[in-house]
Amino acid sequence: MSEEKTTNAPASNFLRNIVERDLAQGTYVSRRWAGTPGDAAHHAAGEPDPAKIRTRFPPEPNGYLHIGHAKSICLNFGLARDYDGVCHMRFDDTNPEKEEQEYVDSITDAVQWLGFGWDKFGKSHLYYASNYFDFMYRAAEYLIESGHAYIDQQSAEEMRATRGTLTEPGKNSPWRDRPAEESLRLFREMRDDKHPDGAMLLRAKIDMASPNINLRDPAIYRIKHATHHNTGDKWCIYPMYTYAHPLEDALEGVTHSICTLEFEDQRPFYDWVLERLAEGGLLAHPLPKQYEFARLNLTYVVLSKRKLIDLVEDQYVSGWDDPRMPTLVGTRRRGYTPEGFRLFADRIGVSKADSWIEYTILEDCMRDTLNESAERRIAVLDPIKLVIDNYPEGQSEDCFAPNHPQKPELGKRVVPLSRELWIEREDFMEEPSKGYFRLFPGNKVRLRYGYVVECIGCEKDVDGNVTVVHCTYLPETKSGTPGADSIKVKGNIHWVSAPHAYTAEVRLYDRLFQEANPGAGDRNYLDDLNRDSVKIISAQLEAALKDAKPEERFQFERHGYFVADRKDSTEGKPVFNRTVTLRDAWQK
Ligand code: ATP
Ligand code: MG
Repeated sequence: MSEEKTTNAPASNFLRNIVERDLAQGTYVSRRWAGTPGDAAHHAAGEPDPAKIRTRFPPEPNGYLHIGHAKSICLNFGLARDYDGVCHMRFDDTNPEKEEQEYVDSITDAVQWLGFGWDKFGKSHLYYASNYFDFMYRAAEYLIESGHAYIDQQSAEEMRATRGTLTEPGKNSPWRDRPAEESLRLFREMRDDKHPDGAMLLRAKIDMASPNINLRDPAIYRIKHATHHNTGDKWCIYPMYTYAHPLEDALEGVTHSICTLEFEDQRPFYDWVLERLAEGGLLAHPLPKQYEFARLNLTYVVLSKRKLIDLVEDQYVSGWDDPRMPTLVGTRRRGYTPEGFRLFADRIGVSKADSWIEYTILEDCMRDTLNESAERRIAVLDPIKLVIDNYPEGQSEDCFAPNHPQKPELGKRVVPLSRELWIEREDFMEEPSKGYFRLFPGNKVRLRYGYVVECIGCEKDVDGNVTVVHCTYLPETKSGTPGADSIKVKGNIHWVSAPHAYTAEVRLYDRLFQEANPGAGDRNYLDDLNRDSVKIISAQLEAALKDAKPEERFQFERHGYFVADRKDSTEGKPVFNRTVTLRDAWQK
């Protein structure tokens, strides 16, 4: 698996500063790594860790990744790449509900597509949190035995009522001081399927008066009779996320555990539970540390899982990979590039304050990377016939178009010219408006890479719509010949030879939402959908585009960037999606 660096080194940020400080201070040099995740004894028997730092990307396999996840992926894998570390691909599958193989596959695909991998130091670092259930259980028994956890038999209502508020302390549970042996016996009964869901739960014993509500004896294990995709019916008790997550990090030797800001208030519990287990010798110092950054909010997009599910289930889009969806499968199909996402992550950086990022920043990153990499092709999206009256019927000749204006090494390709061409409807006006330089009767323009032609008139249907434009060409003016500059013209239009053209389905995608902040204020976000977010047209493309392979990307000159759809294209019959226009049409 290769890891590509983006061309520009990412700017420094507070997380890079923390990593650099830890490297300078040698915070993690004493760590050992046994080659697989495990407890203190397991790692103690291993070698000094070859990875200078360990980060992780820990999605729950319960949905498709979106642009926000791309930020987290680029951040975590990028830090590991830049500081001789490893980023673990970890499926956080401790919740037995809603987890599916389909999501696991699409997540690993997306991470690799973005240019990252988890094979390093001769090992694959792909892990499943559910493989740690045995340790999580053992750690819970240790917490009970050492007086740091107890079984609470209050009802859910009682617990809610005694939790206190932001301004008032909570009240101790009547079960809080029960003997450890009794809690241990009940906990084992919970495990052995002796009690129904909700009958009791295991709580950490911390401080019911803590100003941080997350430290008021948080739940750490609950009864849940559910089949788990990995462990089946082995367990009828499952750890709470806030307890499981720090343990997963510690078992994997993670050094920097990076998450979004809503977990900031959980950090004291994260540290508390790891410290207790280190005291008991189950885990070793140095322990992982949690750091929080602001999640990505992007204008004209919704990133909430629930809203994305609604868009799919209520069929506002054709599926998770609809090219208008902000999912990684959707944006990929739209033609967005992995390089563009990495550039975006570097440009927006990371911060500790929530903010909105303008969608145009993402689009500009895609334009910048596509401008570099996409070959140019010619496409007429709104075709009208142009007939060159003085060009012999049945004849054709080769013109030469550069594949990339800034990269002569990519060469030129042949575009055939003949008597009948397709041009854009908007490149002809019978009665030109002021400043119009393109085709109108009596005016001359250059057919790009071809000849100068003079417009001599047009044909119309009964309703007065122009159906055919007529012109004559000046044979001495062919591009690339000495006579090319003999006549100066202001207009330069693109065209495709009609008998050679490939008639293709082209989808012109636009933003899915028309408001910058969908659903802001009292609005329903569905009312902010852009009703014109896709237009399907039949376009006339240069013949070479017939051979485009799925996911091949091009700039259609004057129009924007397009990609051959990876799903609906067939051999010799590609369908094209507009990725992004050349310029931002939304700027006010
Ligand atoms: P859920 O609500 O189901 O937890 P989630 O979007 O948080 O959804 P996870 O699978 O838990 O999904 O996310 C995996 C990782 O991606 C987490 O570390 C999370 O912090 C990060 N992440 C999710 N959304 C964003 C976002 N908008 N910006 C940056 N990082 C994000
Ligand atoms: Mg989450």
